Amino acid sequence: MIKNIDFSFLVLPKFNIKYDKDVYPPVIKTEDYAEVKLKLPENYYFDYEDGEVVSKNQLLKIQFNPGIKLLNGYFISEIKDNEFKVSLSLIIPIIKWEIKSPQLNLTDQSRVKEIWHEDLYNQEEAQLAINNIDRFDFDNADLILNNDQQKIRSKKLGNKLIFDLMRFADDIKNSNNSVQEISLKTGNDNVYDLFKIRTKWEIINPSVKYRKEENIVKIGWQQLGRDHGKNIILWNKKSKEKIFSEEINNNNKLIVNLKKKILPNQYRLQFKEKDTWNSGEAKYPADNTLNVFDLTIGDKKDFIAVIKDKGLVITKVEDENGDKFPLNYDYKITEIRDASKLEFENEERYEGNLIICNKKDNNLQPEKLEYNPVSFYYKFENSVLSLFVDREKDGFTYCKKCQKLFWDTIDKNHSEYKHSKYHILAVRYYVDYNRISEELK
Ligand SMILES: [Zn+2]
Repeated sequence: MIKNIDFSFLVLPKFNIKYDKDVYPPVIKTEDYAEVKLKLPENYYFDYEDGEVVSKNQLLKIQFNPGIKLLNGYFISEIKDNEFKVSLSLIIPIIKWEIKSPQLNLTDQSRVKEIWHEDLYNQEEAQLAINNIDRFDFDNADLILNNDQQKIRSKKLGNKLIFDLMRFADDIKNSNNSVQEISLKTGNDNVYDLFKIRTKWEIINPSVKYRKEENIVKIGWQQLGRDHGKNIILWNKKSKEKIFSEEINNNNKLIVNLKKKILPNQYRLQFKEKDTWNSGEAKYPADNTLNVFDLTIGDKKDFIAVIKDKGLVITKVEDENGDKFPLNYDYKITEIRDASKLEFENEERYEGNLIICNKKDNNLQPEKLEYNPVSFYYKFENSVLSLFVDREKDGFTYCKKCQKLFWDTIDKNHSEYKHSKYHILAVRYYVDYNRISEELK
């Protein structure tokens, strides 16, 4: 097929150039190159002037920026020790799309780009065109949304296929996806991705640093899509208390001077779009909410220093299946110190004194306990104790009915035989700092 080649003058005894594909779709990543493979007749080669030709024999691999219109180079032949050199331009059958609308002017696009939905749909019309279709092995196509969810038939206009993008507007508005994919499905059933429409504002790569000396929090992030003003809220993940809420526009970092010092802990960082209809107080965000991130502030050394100073209170227990259960009493561990002997190498174990307090009376009455000191491993990243045992190295049983921890041999008042079907082995213990540890010493 000679239609790919323009030449000024060339005598070729046998001429055949083949691309490795009939159609080159838009490239996905911004840094990607497009690539063609050409098969040339014997004793000929092609020297591409704008890029690299990977192998200079009869099979050439040429990498090029997909934005170019033509591959310009020299076609060289050697006939009877004479070299003939002819400049040559190859037209690559690469799909290029364009959107022309008052707010967007995207012509000659050869990459799968992301478009913010408001730029496309905050106007009365939006038209997509695929140009130069005489280069391709198809002459009609459908535009499809999210892999066939909806489609638009093409209108052929001269050498172009035209699509009315407004016909996707309702489906896109009602979609739960953050990003909508728009592809071309050709008459011969090939599908090529063209571009994406982002409908949700999304924060990625958030980072938080706390400087204890200056008492400031530094927050950084990147965002996809656009917001119209936002609040950044830091929550304590255990107490669900709000540490701060700051309003910010068009920036990707924030420095907050805190009113009081914060402890090393698990926190929840929320990026919330400013809601002009609802100016009420922000509520603690649910798990798996968009633009909400869990993070730990502080390192192991910081956490250990605080637990040795303040002590811990067990807030929940977890069984081996990962189910969590509440406690009807306050189980406090005071006077935490490094364990006197190591059970396992390479793991730091701690010990302390366990005190059980009655929650209902709000009257702290430490029971008389013979099982101290207790010992445990402490995982600061999620504030969890494991291998929590008494002085005799016996584990604790949890009663789902009484919501209480007990020891078979020690807690004689527990109606353990009647409740035995409610008993489980507590494997992990969720803890928080004991705020009133001073009073218990
Ligand atoms: Zn019980």
